[in-house]
Amino acid sequence: MKAVKLHGVRDLRTETVADPAPPAADCVTVKVRAVGICGSDLHNYKTGMWMSRLPVTPGHELAGEIVAVGRGAPRARVGDKVVADSRVPCGSCATCLRGRPNICLRMGYLGEVRDGGFADYVTLPADRVMAYPDDVSPEIAALSEPLGVALHVIRRAALPSEDCRVVVAGAGAIGGLLCIVLSHLGHDDLFLIERDRRRRDLIAEISGAGPATIDDLDRIVGAAPVIAIDATGSGAVVAPLLDHLCPGSRLVMVGIFADRVGLDLNRVVEGEIDLIGSSVFVDEQRDALALLKPLEHRLERILSKPVSLDDIPRAFEGLATGATPDIKVIATP
Ligand SMILES: [Zn+2]
Ligand SMILES: [Zn+2]
Repeated sequence: MKAVKLHGVRDLRTETVADPAPPAADCVTVKVRAVGICGSDLHNYKTGMWMSRLPVTPGHELAGEIVAVGRGAPRARVGDKVVADSRVPCGSCATCLRGRPNICLRMGYLGEVRDGGFADYVTLPADRVMAYPDDVSPEIAALSEPLGVALHVIRRAALPSEDCRVVVAGAGAIGGLLCIVLSHLGHDDLFLIERDRRRRDLIAEISGAGPATIDDLDRIVGAAPVIAIDATGSGAVVAPLLDHLCPGSRLVMVGIFADRVGLDLNRVVEGEIDLIGSSVFVDEQRDALALLKPLEHRLERILSKPVSLDDIPRAFEGLATGATPDIKVIATP
């Protein structure tokens, strides 16, 4: 079969590898039908931050069909259409035992600690796959993973019941999905800060968010408390955003940073600004599955034309350099 292998920083190759062995007792083999490139895949490709074993097949946003079932996985059936849970928590550390596996002390991810979805087939523990609705395509189903991330951000943001402006920074997949879900939930006072005009205009059109840039901060976050969400992981965005936030605001951060960032934390102290982190999801991927059909037509618009596994190394490089405006590049092995 074909598989895309990460060998090191900016070294990704599509290779022919052995077909999958019959799955172990508690595992299933999945024929991958769709797999998306995530911002974290790109981050790892560019920085090597999470390269724990190499070479490895990346890809944790995947949907496919079960083609083989281990003997100890009686509930899985050949032909089941499933998505993968991207997380590989240890299940036994202090945070796992407190019901927060998303911040596991020994957290790993599919595509980092075990081979992921940029391949014809992937072998997964049977308890780490979930059935997706029959009436959506695998490309849409693969979005359940980042959609789960967006839903967790919204839960962490604890949006007040009274009207409150929500400002999302970054129109990558998470920022884009946040705008789509927030507008679906009825949040009309919504702004999107994004420097790439094509992405900004697309998400603004799909979600109704007011398009803005970092130059508009005074106008959109300076006059009244807001819920701001950073989905950029860029100090060049978060530092000025914090500098402009009205006292009483809340800043939720989901973007992954490549560097340490200097922030004026007296803004946090004197303005009683809530700083909140958000990492993957607890059980929100399951909630996301129920949103796929209602959001289908909006979700379709953030997907690239499907690419092949052979095209994946080039697609990574195009996204890494910013040459590709697609919000979610999707491969169909
Ligand atoms: Zn992801
Ligand atoms: Zn743990």
